[in-house]
Amino acid sequence: MDDKLMLMIPGPTPVPEQVLLAMAKHPIGHRSGDFSTLMEEVTQDLKWLHQTQNDLLILTASGTGAMEAGIINFLSPGDRVLVGSNGKFGDRWAQVCKAYGVQTEVISAEWGHALDPEQFRTSLEADREKLIKAVIVTHSETSTGVLNDLETINRYVKAHGEALIIVDTVTSLGAYNVPVDEWGLDVVASGSQKGYMIPPGLGFVAVSPKAWKAYETAKLPRFYLDLGKYKKDAAKNTTPFTPPVNLFFALQAALRMMKAEGLESIFARHLRLTQATRAAIKALGLPLFAADDAASTAITAVAPEQVQAEQIRSVMKKRFDIALAGGQDHLKGKIFRIGHLGFVSDRDILSAIAALEATLQELGYENFTPGSGVTAAAKVIANS
Ligand SMILES: *Cc1c(COP(=O)(O)O)cnc(C)c1O
Repeated sequence: MDDKLMLMIPGPTPVPEQVLLAMAKHPIGHRSGDFSTLMEEVTQDLKWLHQTQNDLLILTASGTGAMEAGIINFLSPGDRVLVGSNGKFGDRWAQVCKAYGVQTEVISAEWGHALDPEQFRTSLEADREKLIKAVIVTHSETSTGVLNDLETINRYVKAHGEALIIVDTVTSLGAYNVPVDEWGLDVVASGSQKGYMIPPGLGFVAVSPKAWKAYETAKLPRFYLDLGKYKKDAAKNTTPFTPPVNLFFALQAALRMMKAEGLESIFARHLRLTQATRAAIKALGLPLFAADDAASTAITAVAPEQVQAEQIRSVMKKRFDIALAGGQDHLKGKIFRIGHLGFVSDRDILSAIAALEATLQELGYENFTPGSGVTAAAKVIANS
């Protein structure tokens, strides 16, 4: 059947109809009063979402553009940084740093496991001369469905005193509590096609006063992503270069929906979707890739052994029009990932799990009692 696509990948994520309709307008001039009014509202609402009073800058870029902006504006060639890497996106941070000649020390963990905050503590405490300029971490590692303990790592960064904490919150913002001011996060990067419930195309960076101080002496080359330009123009509710104005209409509608739902409800919903999904996967006898205490609330990775991950994805798509994500890099073909980020409801999870049960049966996997996945998910949903 046509036009029934259910996107359950970790971005782009589903977009609500009212957001799609908000985009279906004539573009307006980005130097107009109407645009300034729009930009003022979305900037305020983005600060609400980030729980911050810091500057909140909007870039025409995907999440990686926001990450790159988070490096080149605050560091100089040869600066020493610690990068946490336990997946594709942690690796990306290291790649960006290396591309710009930043001295990069990687603290890694096996894919599927969380970063060990104690390793950060050891490196930071050993740095008596305060040469480490930044600690750079991916909060929710989308490639494996692991949530890193940013709060604890950040506590060690604060004890160090000098280093900036630069974070990728691309799949934690809007899915998990990220209190930017309370934790004192210096640079926070995210992208529109994840928790924001709008299509790809915008990147967001929250910048603390401490990071702006580093900006003044940072010497990496920058032009399009020079955040100083965005800050200066944001003060006048405009942008240095032409923004995708229709995506701003979408952002306005999506943020209004999020405010109506409330932060606590949004976090509770993502937690419930995660727990329902994980309970179902366990009931189906399929191994979860990340441990319960390190589970991302945006995405659940599953590592099936008796059926092939790619076959599951293929049947789910062909028979049920449900798009699941595959594994990346060395996990290609080894895992599949169920996105439950952004505009996702309890009903979506029940549908996806029911379709997964039918898929497993079609593939001849019989290591479960039919209905047990749906029952387990329904139980979590009914009791929370
Ligand atoms: C999606 C994602 C990004 C950004 O990817 P883009 O394709 O550049 O938008 C960065 N980090 C994480 C953790 C992500 O999930």
